[in-house]
Amino acid sequence: MRIVALAGGIGGARFLQGLRAAVPEAELTVVVNTGDDITMYGLRICPDLDTVMYTLGNGIDTDRGWGRKEETFVVKDELAAYDVPTTWFGLGDRDLATHLVRRTMLDAGFPLSQVTAALCARWQPEATLLPMSDDRVETHVMVELDGTRKAIHFQEWWVKHRASLPALAIVAVGAEAATPAPGVLDAVDAADVVLLPPSNPVVSIGTILQVKGIREALRGKTVVGLSPIVGGSPVRGMADACLDAIDVETSAEAVGRHYGSELLDGWLVDTVDAGATVPGVEVRAVPLLMTDVQATAAMARAALELAGV
Ligand code: GDP
Ligand code: CA
Repeated sequence: MRIVALAGGIGGARFLQGLRAAVPEAELTVVVNTGDDITMYGLRICPDLDTVMYTLGNGIDTDRGWGRKEETFVVKDELAAYDVPTTWFGLGDRDLATHLVRRTMLDAGFPLSQVTAALCARWQPEATLLPMSDDRVETHVMVELDGTRKAIHFQEWWVKHRASLPALAIVAVGAEAATPAPGVLDAVDAADVVLLPPSNPVVSIGTILQVKGIREALRGKTVVGLSPIVGGSPVRGMADACLDAIDVETSAEAVGRHYGSELLDGWLVDTVDAGATVPGVEVRAVPLLMTDVQATAAMARAALELAGV
């Protein structure tokens, strides 16, 4: 079976771990959001790609959900001692090596997709990880800060301000002009099923869908999504702040309706949200809490069953 999944960071990565456990024989291609990417200290930071790679490669810090396990932060502390203004972003010492490799390869002219493949040669995620695009896309958030309206990078809004400033708009700068990375459309074309893990519908899945041609490519495919919203709230994180920005209610039903029948064939909601309906889409209720790999594998099996594959 050939499966394509679109993914953000933590929600996507955890789901993919369960999916791997459920169908280890499946050929899995993951199209990962790069709208969260940011350049700091000259390094290209790709949070979602690295979260998926480290999680599937057993290198993730499972408590934090991002970065390397057994991590140290000597460099971060040293930067803080210089009073650099960007230490709100945690970049661990082990993680730094990944970023130095990425910087070196990008400087040598390799596109992000090839850099990702090179990094995955070490981590062996047992899936093909593709950035949604090799072109630069950066999500920005319009906020009111110090009495003026301005656009700040998504990471600054999310990590530094903990999404506490109301988002007046969220824009994936560059997405409309970006083209899918090599292999993305071919993988979708060859897929028996496309899964939308319970990733953030606005800044993870929503951003991937804005890359030219991806939404269109999904039209002819069987697509099943899993709700990131359970009982009216995101299980972890602050996805409600993103949904507010696009005027979508924080509920499993509203997110399903937001994706709509043009994209979805099936929509899985948690049992507490049983009764949710999405016109033109088959909705099923199963437990959707990713408490451990077994529970997550059961979610993956339910998604494949709903897809009829
Ligand atoms: P990020 O890029 O690290 O924010 O990760 P994603 O976009 O891939 O996923 C984040 C989303 O995962 C959050 O908005 C949550 O709503 C969702 N999420 C996290 N844990 C769970 C869970 O156990 N069950 C479900 N259904 N959703 C979850
Ligand atoms: Ca992310």
